[in-house]
Amino acid sequence: MSHQPLSAAELTELIANLHRLSRNLWWTWNQKPQEVFSELSPRGWQNLYHNAVAVLHELSDYELRMRLQDPDLAFKVQDIIKDFDAYMNSQNTWGHRNAPALHEKPVAYFSAEFGFHETLPVAAGGLGILAADHAKSASDLGIGFYGISLFYREGYFQQSINHENWQTEYYSKLDPKILPIEPVLGTDGSPLVCSVRVASSVVKFKAWKANVGRATVFFIDADMPENDPSHRDLTLRVYGGDNSTRIMQEVLLGVGGVQLLRALGIEPGVFHMNEGHAAFLTLELTREKIAKGASFEDAWAQTTQECIFTTHTPVEAGHDRFTPDLLDYVLNRYAPDLGLDREGMLALGRVKTDDENEPFCMTVLALKGSRAANGVSELHGQISRDMWQCMFPDKSVDEVPIGHITNGVHVASWMKGTARAFWRKKLKEASDADAGDTTFFKVDWEQEVNQPEFWEKIADPAFVSDEELWAFRYHLRRELIEFCRRRLLIQGQRVTQGDYINFDHMLNPDALTIGFARRFATYKRAPLMFERFEEIARVAKDADCPVQFIFAGKAHPRDDNGKRFIQNIIHLSKYSELKDNLFFIENYDVHIARQMVSGCDVWLNNPRRPLEASGTSGMKAVVHGCLNFSILDGWWREGYNGENGFAIGPDSHPDSVEEQDRVDSENLYNTLVKEVIPTFYNRDATGIPRAWISRIRNNFTTLAAQFNTWRMVQEYTTGYYAPKKG
Ligand SMILES: *Cc1c(COP(=O)(O)O)cnc(C)c1O
Repeated sequence: MSHQPLSAAELTELIANLHRLSRNLWWTWNQKPQEVFSELSPRGWQNLYHNAVAVLHELSDYELRMRLQDPDLAFKVQDIIKDFDAYMNSQNTWGHRNAPALHEKPVAYFSAEFGFHETLPVAAGGLGILAADHAKSASDLGIGFYGISLFYREGYFQQSINHENWQTEYYSKLDPKILPIEPVLGTDGSPLVCSVRVASSVVKFKAWKANVGRATVFFIDADMPENDPSHRDLTLRVYGGDNSTRIMQEVLLGVGGVQLLRALGIEPGVFHMNEGHAAFLTLELTREKIAKGASFEDAWAQTTQECIFTTHTPVEAGHDRFTPDLLDYVLNRYAPDLGLDREGMLALGRVKTDDENEPFCMTVLALKGSRAANGVSELHGQISRDMWQCMFPDKSVDEVPIGHITNGVHVASWMKGTARAFWRKKLKEASDADAGDTTFFKVDWEQEVNQPEFWEKIADPAFVSDEELWAFRYHLRRELIEFCRRRLLIQGQRVTQGDYINFDHMLNPDALTIGFARRFATYKRAPLMFERFEEIARVAKDADCPVQFIFAGKAHPRDDNGKRFIQNIIHLSKYSELKDNLFFIENYDVHIARQMVSGCDVWLNNPRRPLEASGTSGMKAVVHGCLNFSILDGWWREGYNGENGFAIGPDSHPDSVEEQDRVDSENLYNTLVKEVIPTFYNRDATGIPRAWISRIRNNFTTLAAQFNTWRMVQEYTTGYYAPKKG
C-alpha cells in the first residue's frame, strides 16, 4: 500500500499528536505506539528505558518532520492516533453501562505508591504495581477515576551489590521534563499550589499528573523553594526517613490529596484508601463538613459513608503505628478544627480508645472511617477479620465487616511483545479460517485479552498445537536467557574473581528454568529452596534433566535480614557447586519482572503462610504459560486446581514458624523432584512434553481471565463504589 506525503500543516498536527500520545501512559500497554517510538530511535528506546517522552526529547523537531515525510511511518502514527482517540472518546464502555454515576462523581483512589512502568520508578513493590494496574483497568473499563499519590523525586532506590555481596542503595533524581507526566495547572495557567498544616508549619505543595488512558493520577510534590528543607524532602523517597517523615508524608497524601481535588473542582463520590497510609483523608473530609457547620459526630458519620478501605497485609510492619506524642506533635494544630482534643484525636486510631499507651494505628483509623473494608484474597479476608475482631467486640470473627476481593494484574501491561505477537497471529489465522465469525476478531486485541472467551480457545489443539506452544515457550526462554546474559555482563559479578566466563555461554537455554523475583521481605523466604542445598545441587546438575534458578529482588534499605538473604544467594551463585545453575539479576524492577515472568518455565513462590495476602507476580507468569509452583497462600490457594501448576504443601500450615519452614522446604523439594522436573522432562518421541503442555493449557484457560484487574475493578465497582440499589 502506498500513502501520500503529508502537507506542512498535517505534519505539524501529527507531531503535536505524537507528543500528546507520549504524555499518556496508554502507550505503555499498547504495542503499536511502542514500536513507533522504538523505530524513531532504537538505541534511545533501549537506553532511555522505554520512555516515549525522553525519546521524543532526543529528536529535534527538524528530524521529526523529516522522518515523518516517510509516508509509511506517517501512516502508522496516524493510525495509532486514530486508535488512541477512539479509546479516549468512547462512550460505549462497561463503566458507562454499569456505573454511570461514577462519571459525575468519580472514584478518588489514594495510594502511597503507583508503579506504572519502568520509566516512572516511584513504587517499592506489589502495592504500587497493583494500584497502577487498578488505574489502567479503571481506564479500560471507562470508570470515572482519579488517583492520588506522592511524587518521590528520587523514587525508590536502585540496587547495587558490593564486593561483599551486600546490597547497597543509590538514588538518582527524576527529571519531570522527560517523564510521561505533566504539571498540574491552576485556572490562571500557572502551577497550582496548595498547602497543608504539619506540626506548627505550613507545607506548600504543587502536583504532577499522569494521564493513564482515560484516568488521571496526581502526584503531590513538596519540593518547593518556599518550604523548609526538611519539608521539601518529604517527597524525596518512597517510604524514606523515619516515622516522623512517614507520618508527615501521610498528612500530605491524605489531607493534601483532598485539598488538591477540591482545588481542581473534582467532587468524588467515593474515596478509596489503598492501605492505611491514606487514612488521614477521613480527617480532612470531616473537617470540611465541620467548617460548614456540622457537628463532629454528624461530619464523621457522613465521611464514613464516603470512604472504603483495602487492607493489604497481615504482616505487622505493614500497619503504620505512631506514638501518641508524634501524632499529637504533627496534628495538634489541626485537631481543634475537628473540635477534638489530644485524646479525642488519638481515640480515632486506637482499638481501646482510652488506653493512653496504645499507639495511633492508621489501619484502625481507616477501618473506623470507612463504610466498607476488604482484604485482597479469600484467605487474607479471613485472616483480617480475625486480626481486627478486637475492634468489634460484639461481633464474632465471621461477622467482622471485612470482605475480600482477590487481586489481579492488568494483562495488556504485563504481556511481553513476543507473546502479543504470537496470540495476535493465532487469532488472525483463526479468523481467516473462519471468516464468518467476525464479531469476535474485529474487536480490539488489548481489550480481548481480558475476556475468558479468548483464553478458553487455547484449550483447543486446533487453535494452537502442542508444538506451537512449545516453540512459543522456547522462544520466551531464549529471550530471557539473552536478557540475563546482557545483565550479567554489565554486573560483571564473576569477572572480578579472575574466573573469566564467556557470558554468551552462561545459562542453559534447554534447562528447566525456575524464577523467583519479588521484594526480599523475609517472610517471602527467598533462600528456602537452599535449605536442602546438597540435594538441590545434585538434582539441578543432573546432565539429563538440568535445572537453573534465576533470582532478583530488593531488600528494604533498613532490612538487614533481607540483605543477608540476598548475600546468601549471590554467594551460592558465585562460589558453590551451583554456580553454573544459579543467577542473581541486580536492581529488580518492572522491566526485569516482565522478562522473568515470561521467560521462566516455573514461577516459585514460597512465603510463610498466611503472610502473602495475595501476591501478583505469579499472575503475570500465567499469561505467558509460565507455571506457578507455590505455597497455597493468597491468590494461588484460589487459583490452583491440581492441573494448572504445582502446589507446595496442603491448604493448611503448622502453627510454629520453625515447623512451617521445615515442612515447607521438604514439600518444596519433594514436589520439585517428584512432579515438576519429571513432568517437564517427560518428552514423547517427537521431543514434546505433552503433560507439561497440558498444564500450560489449563493454566491459560482457568487463570488468565480470573486473576485480572478487569475482573477485580468490576468487583470493586459493583460491590463497593457504586452498589446497585435494592
Ligand atoms: C509484580 C511485581 C511485584 C509483586 O510481586 P509479588 O510476587 O506479588 O510480591 C513486585 N515488584 C515488581 C517490580 C513487580 O512487577
